[in-house]
Amino acid sequence: MSTQDNEKLWPIFKPILKQYILPRWYLIAGGVVAGMIAAASAGFGLPFMTQYVFPIVFGTLEPPALLKEWIEKILAPQDMSIAVMWIAACLIPLVMAIRGFATYANTYLLTRAGTEALLQLRVDVFARLQWLSFSYHDRRSRGELMTAVIQYTSMAQQGMVTIFNELVIQPLTLVSAGAYLVYAACSNDESAILLGNLLITCACVPIVRMVGKRMAKNMWKSMKNMSELTTIVEETFSAQREVRAFNLEEYRESLLKDCIRRLNRVIIRMTAWSSSVAPSVEMVSSLALAYSLYRGCSDGLTLEQFSAIAFAFYFCYEPIKHLGNVANQCQIMAKGIEGINEILHAVDETPEPAEPAKLELPVAGAVDFEHVSFGYNEEKIVLKDVSVHVPAGQVVALVGPSGSGKTTFINLICRFYDVNSGSVKIDGVDVRQISRADRTKSIGMVSQFAALFRDSIFANILAGRPSATREEVLAAARMARVDEFAESTPEGYERMLGEGGSGLSGGQRQRISIARAFLKNAPVLILDEATSALDMKSEAAIQAELEELAKGHTTFVIAHRFSTIRMAQRILVFEDGRIIGDGTHTTLYERCSLYKSLYDEQLKQTEEETTKEEDV
Ligand code: ADP
Ligand code: MG
Repeated sequence: MSTQDNEKLWPIFKPILKQYILPRWYLIAGGVVAGMIAAASAGFGLPFMTQYVFPIVFGTLEPPALLKEWIEKILAPQDMSIAVMWIAACLIPLVMAIRGFATYANTYLLTRAGTEALLQLRVDVFARLQWLSFSYHDRRSRGELMTAVIQYTSMAQQGMVTIFNELVIQPLTLVSAGAYLVYAACSNDESAILLGNLLITCACVPIVRMVGKRMAKNMWKSMKNMSELTTIVEETFSAQREVRAFNLEEYRESLLKDCIRRLNRVIIRMTAWSSSVAPSVEMVSSLALAYSLYRGCSDGLTLEQFSAIAFAFYFCYEPIKHLGNVANQCQIMAKGIEGINEILHAVDETPEPAEPAKLELPVAGAVDFEHVSFGYNEEKIVLKDVSVHVPAGQVVALVGPSGSGKTTFINLICRFYDVNSGSVKIDGVDVRQISRADRTKSIGMVSQFAALFRDSIFANILAGRPSATREEVLAAARMARVDEFAESTPEGYERMLGEGGSGLSGGQRQRISIARAFLKNAPVLILDEATSALDMKSEAAIQAELEELAKGHTTFVIAHRFSTIRMAQRILVFEDGRIIGDGTHTTLYERCSLYKSLYDEQLKQTEEETTKEEDV
């Protein structure tokens, strides 16, 4: 991102304006009309009062004959001068009331339009982020994304509101005050004053522009710092255990301090620049005023004439000051919108097929890998020419050292990423041709890191199939042995979980996650170390249910204990991104040395664990 010239801002604003502001045109139109009234009453009304109304009140000016006639007709007062005075005096609160109401309506309507636009914008950015591929998320920090959803959108909204507000009121105030000046100059032949002021006004423009550019540069820096700050806070709190266990509090605090210090420096710089606009414009305008005073005196202007002109000047310079603010807001908004656009227009690396294949749902569940090569990035190929056919209903175990590509294999079935070459098929259809909705319906998963939401236990299980009945949810809970701990508290299934399921043990979390998969009952079932956090006894208890669930489902089991893969009819052995063994336990134990060593090692560990558990 580079410094933007105002001319280049329009293409950035246009699509956002069209999509988010235009649908609320009636609010905007109302706000704009109110703004016009406010502007006219200030820019023209006050100078007019000073030149005509006050002099009439003070008796230095005769009221116009027409006005007198009207007063005679309607009020028929005893004393004409007092009546005129009253009417004139009432004009002041009247003008102020009009201005006040108009300003109020202007602010209210535009803010409402802005807030509604913000809501829609936030939802859209959030939805887009949920849609974008895993590779996109791998590249961006969570802090960045949080800043985008919360901060960028609000920058865009604030910008839009301020700009609409100021761009209507201020130029109108300027024009109406200017119109008054022209009128005054013409009627008093004071064109010298007018011209002089006009020139001085122009001197303000470069100041405002320069400040705008500095603001944009610093704004970008502050945004970077802001997302860094969010990342630090987010990361620290989601790793509280590690932070405390390893005594990292001071280190994390120093990271935060450092980041805030950098942020503060940028903010102070921005404040310095933005607050320099008003004083500079004021200084220039005081020069203009001094010049007018001098010219006015030497040309013999009356006090009323002069103060009317001074008022008009004031209403000329005020808008310029505000427009300086608008220029800054434009830059801020542009940065926000750029950040938003980056997300809204990010290339989707796992795009929806233009014409999705018509799958017969529910799918049978055959899975094919055909010469699949895949890497998360250019540097490293993780899966190398993997080909395997898994017929519908087969239960397959994936074993191999950690980092050998088991989870990656599964990520590709779910199309969390797209293959570099080759293809992954479900029921003979390339996953890239299947719509996201159909794919999601076909695959149930219990992942390595069972993630739960800040919601009730019941809602967390229901997430597996939101259309399920209460009985179905409870049945799934029983099968996954959730009932054992859920029913032990008075709230039962309504018990609220903390963020990410905190308040439960790892094993309990996994059981809820398994219940979810039971409830979903999808044709393809994936268990990625689904029982790793369970103790051996609970694992054995769930094992039977899992075996039951696996029946009739194409199942992929990645297990850290070999006991879990007993249910597998077939075992795939992974090593360094390749499948080096494929068969049953007996054949592999004989023929595959890696499998034999992994198995023997496991057996030894299991024996140790069993003795330990028996000791306890
Ligand atoms: P495992 O067999 O333990 O499940 P994985 O499939 O998770 O192994 O990982 C295989 C390889 O891919 C590892 O070398 C790992 O570093 C790498 N890897 C896994 N996830 C990512 C990712 N999101 N970005 C980059 N590399 C990754
Ligand atoms: Mg893994």
